[in-house]
Amino acid sequence: MPDLPKILVIGSANMDMVIQTSHFPKPGETIIGGHFSLIPGGKGANQAVAAARLGGSVAFITQLGTDVFGNTSLENFKKEGIDTSRIRQNPHQPSGVALITVDGHGENTIIVAPGANNHLREEDIQAAENYFLEASIVLIQLEIPLQVVLASVQMAKKYGKKLILNPAPASQLSAEYYDGLYMITPNETEIELLSGIKIVDERSAKSAAAVLASKGAQHIVITLGASGAYVYSEEFTGILPTEKVKAVDTTAAGDTFNGALAVALGNGRTIKEAVAFALKAATLSVQKLGAQSSIPHLSELK
Ligand code: AMP
Repeated sequence: MPDLPKILVIGSANMDMVIQTSHFPKPGETIIGGHFSLIPGGKGANQAVAAARLGGSVAFITQLGTDVFGNTSLENFKKEGIDTSRIRQNPHQPSGVALITVDGHGENTIIVAPGANNHLREEDIQAAENYFLEASIVLIQLEIPLQVVLASVQMAKKYGKKLILNPAPASQLSAEYYDGLYMITPNETEIELLSGIKIVDERSAKSAAAVLASKGAQHIVITLGASGAYVYSEEFTGILPTEKVKAVDTTAAGDTFNGALAVALGNGRTIKEAVAFALKAATLSVQKLGAQSSIPHLSELK
């Protein structure tokens, strides 16, 4: 069997505490809700799990607390076969949590307390230099301090490694983030913020992607929900559609897409092939409920 591609994921880990409710409480009101579930989430963790399930040899850099959520997350990553040796548990910070309520119409309210995620530091990146050296692909998002993202972009550049930046949640990025950046993977909302151009059709997608290319991004992949993805690169430019399916929950669809993309690129696939693989995986994920519970395994794609 050929070696699995080494994927280094850097990002957030949260525990999602979800309560179903018939309606939302008003300030000062207490109501009795329905079913409660505790679901591992956070964009970094979701992408690490996606890459591991879809055929990558994954190492994950994140920061957890020493509380029960941190311990549970760590065990969960180990069960997924993820290398956890660069995960730090901070005794002074709680693990990241998201308090989520979902009503009968599928509307939700979410409050995230980032906790330990906000305490990831550039030193954590410097200390993982060997992991950058060994990685085929580095994958990162914006749910951690931005200076850590920049340090990672610069470290990947130093070793000539391909880094995929998933700019989520949406945030403005200064020019230095694009310098030598291999790939950026915004959704429609994120690219509008980054480029100032609203995506309404293929032409506007091309103009928006061109703005990011002019800043230095080498490859731009815009995810378009049910419409698939728009690719802007020297190898291929255009929309790659995805299968029409009944979507029941799009949570972690973008994370599945990015994890899958990293594995396929790490396997030496062309950009077009890698995006097609990522679309297939993400479109499978929208047909199941939840975040990590909806991320498919490689055997489901065959
Ligand atoms: P998004 O972040 O919403 O752009 O979605 C990321 C990826 O998930 C898309 O590129 C699709 O592969 C998949 N996806 C999201 N929503 C749908 C949907 N309604 N139907 C099929 N695939 C979807």
